Parts: sequence; structure tokens; C-alpha cells
Amino acid sequence: MFLLDYIVNLSIFSLLVSSPLVIRSFFNHKPIKHARLWIGVYGGIVSVILIMLSIHEQGYSYDIRYAPIILIFAYMGPIAGIITGSFGLIARLISSGHWETAISGWAAMMIGFTIIYYFTKRYTPFIKSIILSSSYILIYIITVPIVFNVFRDNPFFHIQYILFVILGVILGFLLIESYVKLHRLNNRLSDMYRMVEASESKYRLIAENTSDLIMVMDKEHTLTYFSPSHEMVLGYQNCELEDVKLCRFIHPDDVEFFKNTIDRMFDCKESQALEFRLSHKQGRWIEFESRCVPVSGDNGEVEHIVIISRDISERKKAEEFLLQSEKLSIVGELAAGVAHEIRNPLTTIKGFIQLSKWENGADEINDLLLSELARIETITSEMLTLGKPQAVQLHRMSLRELVENTLELLSPQAIMQNIQFNLSVEDSAFFITGEKNQLKQVLLNILKNAMEAMPEGGTIHIDLQKGDEGECILAIKDEGCGIPEELLPRLGEPFYTLKEKGTGLGLMICNKIIKQHHGSITYQSKAQQGTLVEIKLPLAL
Ligand code: ADP
Ligand code: MG
Repeated sequence: MFLLDYIVNLSIFSLLVSSPLVIRSFFNHKPIKHARLWIGVYGGIVSVILIMLSIHEQGYSYDIRYAPIILIFAYMGPIAGIITGSFGLIARLISSGHWETAISGWAAMMIGFTIIYYFTKRYTPFIKSIILSSSYILIYIITVPIVFNVFRDNPFFHIQYILFVILGVILGFLLIESYVKLHRLNNRLSDMYRMVEASESKYRLIAENTSDLIMVMDKEHTLTYFSPSHEMVLGYQNCELEDVKLCRFIHPDDVEFFKNTIDRMFDCKESQALEFRLSHKQGRWIEFESRCVPVSGDNGEVEHIVIISRDISERKKAEEFLLQSEKLSIVGELAAGVAHEIRNPLTTIKGFIQLSKWENGADEINDLLLSELARIETITSEMLTLGKPQAVQLHRMSLRELVENTLELLSPQAIMQNIQFNLSVEDSAFFITGEKNQLKQVLLNILKNAMEAMPEGGTIHIDLQKGDEGECILAIKDEGCGIPEELLPRLGEPFYTLKEKGTGLGLMICNKIIKQHHGSITYQSKAQQGTLVEIKLPLAL
């Protein structure tokens, strides 16, 4: 029966200690205002309940009300401890007699605990609990059997009582500590979770908003990770890339080099730079420059390779263009030099022919030679002006004359390619205000495009007429391969070319020059039916 009381008391005490701790763990851990006071009061209520459960033996009742008092002193200090103790004392006085014993015992304990608390302030609750429990035992022994002469000859009774209280303290201490430890662990886990989330969101911000391709590849060359940028750059959906071999998307000419380099990286564990082409979902190839970094696992072996790739098609085009323009400028310089050198002997030849004409009288051969020489002269001087860099100066000029000169410049090439120019002009000079060389560049490029579109030869119709709104309209129509409708909007984009040796800059420059001259340029075309380019320029007053 006695053991049962013992167990009931301790169980109810454990329940009363753990319930507020568990309840509190469900709420936000905001600090409570006047925590000492409230905890002291709660401790007091626990003491009262414990007194109500007190065990009666040989006319003497005993309980474990000192267990909460010791714990509250150890964790919350003397104020809360004394509040708890006071509740206990009042309940004790109401429930049974021996008032002097109870009051003086209580006072001795409270004073003793308060003094001890101040000496053990720096220690952990564990050490405080041990010291407070020891002093409880000491004060109990001094007061109860010795001073008040209670069951002095029955040490078993006192041992039983002290054990009872100490067991309560141990149980309460274990419950509080395990809660505190769990609480700390939980806080640390939440902090870690927050940190991981923050770093993950930072990483996601980078991976999701970069135009570079980030991928992770394993030993079998299978993609184990690919950044969302793949969809934007290559056009594939995520599910199309999951667990596939990267080699599937690499240009057949680059696959072997790629495989060898990657396999070597697994052995030598060194980073490498690579260039390869990947296929876009729509079938075109995109050039990438990649940095490949091997990542070792716990065993020191390379397990993955991180590949960060950047689209370098535009850069490659720009490099090619630079190379091309460098070449063109050298060729231009050479042409200008050659033209200059040709002009001197030409003057001599012309002089001698004129002399012979003057001496021997005019004949057909002389006239023919002179007219051919005049043609050579025009062409060389044209080449000289084209090659020379010139300041932009607007002049009143005849568009008709410019068209005629340009056609003349191109006619040798046209004859070679079996192309005829068919010029139809209204009877007018078509004066406009503009920069002669720039406009000539426009005509040259459009006519050259037309000629290049007709490898089999044919006729190019050039039509110059006045428009309804005081402008002149120059229409150049070829019979060439034409441009598919869906590609028309791309004309004039820098580097857009379908020619193997094209620069894709001609029409862009034409658009710019015509815009500077306040005119407009339009392209109409159908595949295999030829192209019509229409330039409108304002007429000069
Ligand atoms: P490039 O001549 O160097 O290619 P352009 O800017 O002059 O560059 O022309 C861009 C592209 O437009 C050409 O590659 C060609 O495909 C197309 N194009 C332009 N003019 C014509 C035309 N008259 N007929 C067919 N295609 C044309
Ligand atoms: Mg061109």
C-alpha cells in the first residue's frame, strides 16, 4: 500500500512537471512576462496538490512538496522558490497540525536555500539541485529528528522520507533537462533549416536566372543535374533531359573529343576548358565554351563533373566578322593601291593614242581604244573613292546619275555572271540631298545581293520613278532564289546571313544609311520567285 502511494505521488508529480513543458512546446517560444512569479505560483499549486496526496504514517503525514521547491530554487531563484514554498506552507498548515514544527522547518529551509542559492549562483541547475538537495537533507536531519524529536529512534522512517523527496527532485530534474535539451536541439535545427533554406534560395536564384548552362554528369556521362536555363537556351523540357546521356545532344564531330576529355578528367582530377556544339531542339547547333570541374566523393575518387557552359555563337560570329573586315580592309587598300598604279600608265597610253589620232587622223580603232580607256579610268577612280575613308557630307546630287554609275561599276561582273541590268527611269535627274558614297554603298550591296541570288543569270530590273508624296522610289527586282516569308523579318539583323561567306551586315548598314537619309527601305519576296527591294528617298527642293 505504501509503495503504491509512493508511485502515485511520483507519477502525478511527473505529470505536473511535464505538462506545462509539453504544452509550451506547442506555442511560440516568446518569453513570458513576470515568468518567475508565474512559475513560482505554478510550483505552489503543484506543492498544494502534493500535500493533498500526502501519505499518513503513524500519525505523521509526509509528502514531496519539497521536490518542486528545490527545483524552482535551482532553476528560477529564491523569489519564485519562496512563492512556491509559501503555497506549500499554507496548505500544510490547513491540512494538519504541528504548526510550530511546520513553520520553523519551513523557515529554516527557505533561509538555508536562499543563502545557498547566492553562493551557487554561477553553477548549472544540476549542481545547484545537488547542493540544494544535500542541504535539504542536512536541514531535515537537524530539524526533524534532532530538534523536534520526531521518530528519533526510527531512522528508516526518515531515510524513506528523504529518499521520497530526492526521487521527486531527480525525476523533475530529468524531465526539465530533457525538455530543455530537446528545445535547444529544436532551435538549432530550426536555425540550420533556415540557413539551408537561405543558401538554397540563393543558389536557386543563381541557377534559375543565369543564361549559362550548369550541369552535373556522372561517370556514365549521364546528366544527374541540369539548370533550368537549359529550357531557355536549348529549348528542351526538363523531362527530356532527365537521366539522359549528354553525348546525345553533342555534335557528332565533337563527341569523341568530349568523351576523351571527360574520361581523362575522371582519371587526372583536373579541371578542363572545352568547346563543343549542342543541338537546339529545333535542330540548329549552338557553340558552347565550357569549364569542367571534377568533384571527388568521400573516397577521393572523382564521382561527378560539373560543367558550366556559355553560348559563344555571337562571339564567334563577331570574331569571324572582324577577321573578314580585316581581310576586306586589306583587299580594299590593295585595290586602291593597284587602281592608283594603273592610272599612271593609263595616262601615258591615253596620251599616245590621242597623239596618234591627231597625227594619223581619227579612225574607229582609236575611238574604241579611247572609250575603253575612259571606262577603265572611271572604274579605277570609283575604286579609289570607295577605298578611301571620307567625311560624311550631304550634297545635292542626282540619284539617277548615282544609279547609272553604280550599274556601270558592276557591269563587268554582271556580264561574267550572265546577268543583264534593265534600267527604266522617268525623264528626270531625281535630285536628292545625301552622301554619295554611303548611298552608293547601299546600291552596291542590294545589287550584289540580287546578283548573288541569281547564280544561273537573269535580269535585274531597276526602276526609278516619282512617288505620290514628293519622294522618289527606286525599285530593284531580281529573279533570284527569293527569301522564305518567315525569314523576311530577320533581314537587317546584324550577322543574319544564309551565305557561306556572307557577313550578314550589308542590309543592316543599308537600313541605317537610308534611315539617316530620312527614307525607307522595304523587302518583298517569295521563295524561288525573286525579291523586290524598294527604297524611298525624299526629293530635294
Ligand atoms: P550578306 O550578303 O553578307 O549575307 P546581307 O545583310 O546583305 O548579308 O543579306 C542578308 C541575307 O539576306 C543574305 O544572306 C540572303 O540570305 C538574304 N538576301 C538579301 N537579299 C537577297 C536577295 N535579293 N535574294 C535572296 N536573298 C537575299
Ligand atoms: Mg550582302
